[in-house]
Amino acid sequence: MSDARRIVIVGAGPAGVGAALAARAQDLAAEILLIADERCEPYEKPPLSKTVLTGKAMPHEAPIAGPGGVGGHKITLKGDTRCAAIDRGGHAVVTEEGERIPYDILVLASGSINRVLPLLPAGQPSIHYLRTEREALGLREQLGRSRCLLVIGAGLIGLEVAASAAELGVKTTVLEVAPRILARVCDPETSALLQAHHAAHGVDIRLGTAISAVRTSPDGRIAIATQAGQTFTADLVVVGTGVVPDDRLAQAAGLDVQDGILVDDHCFTSDRSILAAGDCTRFVGPRGPVRLENWRHAQEQGAVAGRNAAGGDAAYNVTPSFWSEQYDLYIQGMGWPLPQPSAQVRRQIGPNAMLRFDLDGDHLSYVLGINAQRDIAAARRLIERRVPVDAAALADPSQPLAAMLKAKT
Ligand SMILES: Cc1cc2nc3c(=O)[nH]c(=O)nc-3n(C[C@H](O)[C@H](O)[C@H](O)COP(=O)(O)OP(=O)(O)OC[C@H]3O[C@@H](n4cnc5c(N)ncnc54)[C@H](O)[C@@H]3O)c2cc1C
Repeated sequence: MSDARRIVIVGAGPAGVGAALAARAQDLAAEILLIADERCEPYEKPPLSKTVLTGKAMPHEAPIAGPGGVGGHKITLKGDTRCAAIDRGGHAVVTEEGERIPYDILVLASGSINRVLPLLPAGQPSIHYLRTEREALGLREQLGRSRCLLVIGAGLIGLEVAASAAELGVKTTVLEVAPRILARVCDPETSALLQAHHAAHGVDIRLGTAISAVRTSPDGRIAIATQAGQTFTADLVVVGTGVVPDDRLAQAAGLDVQDGILVDDHCFTSDRSILAAGDCTRFVGPRGPVRLENWRHAQEQGAVAGRNAAGGDAAYNVTPSFWSEQYDLYIQGMGWPLPQPSAQVRRQIGPNAMLRFDLDGDHLSYVLGINAQRDIAAARRLIERRVPVDAAALADPSQPLAAMLKAKT
């Protein structure tokens, strides 16, 4: 029998694939088994609400592990397999079919699942949730036959779906319960600017709108009543009301879980043989345990978990970031948004290009950018190196951010 370390990874999103690739780089001899509940080569999710919906790309065109797939890295992919339980005492995972898969070390990368609204249950013909390739292709097919779409929730996914539908010529209305869009990542002025951009593309965003009842007519059209007494009808509804961490396996196995699998800065769970990474975790942030739901976090935390699963000693220290694409806007966030920044500064770069900085004293804490990729890269280095910054210089577009990196720390 081989004495190679046997690493089993559950979940083949960016965290699971990132873990597998990093484990392979750390230990060339390890047996690495990646368990996925989908049948296909692991693919990236971000295009699903963007180019896949508009028909410009197919999910398989963006394999997470690159053109050769995970197999090209001597990683065994066991697809179409759902893990049903972890036998911690026996060091094995048990699949839904009852197969026992032994591990020396296990990495949980089970991601997150959509938050389902009871009034709009998943699985109805005209009601869509978006997380997988199958769901994206089903939605795309139906969008092609629809004239009128209702999106519930003006978060990043809801707004990307709205932008894609508008591009396809589908009349789109977005119902959002909060008083402004993207309140978690944007200041009020930027929220208003993004909403105006949607309006200019014909997307009607209704704020402060809570739904109270849903009725499906025999022809499949859906009527949604709001608490304010209005009714909106559409051929199709997409629900984008956020996600919850998929910590079910961990919880059932008795691992420490608190709305996410609790991990330390080396990605270990409360069981030293089990690590976890990505959307499913709650990890140590600068202001206490925190969850993130974005691609880069999943990929980078996955890489740390994979390295450590294979005997490494890496700590996870993230500068959070996300991006979103809506129409001609490339929106990015970088850093930790503060509940009460000491100052907020805006830099207008062009008609559709700007930066908004949150300061913590004389340090940059968070920056939101629209069509400002190069500046966001410089801002990231200002944040990570804790370079002191001057608010007036940040506001002045003639002062390159890259030059501020030379300031003494
Ligand atoms: C439509 C869409 C667009 C997005 N766009 C962006 C974007 O533009 N920018 C950005 O930063 N982020 C974006 N994200 C978020 C980003 O894709 C996620 O944060 C990231 O995929 C999380 O990675 P993960 O590996 O932790 O989990 P996931 O990608 O969710 O992967 C987890 C996998 O594990 C599988 N799994 C779970 N339980 C089991 C089990 N018991 N057995 C076997 N398999 C299991 C799941 O089915 C899933 O395939 C988007 C997400 C979606 C859905």
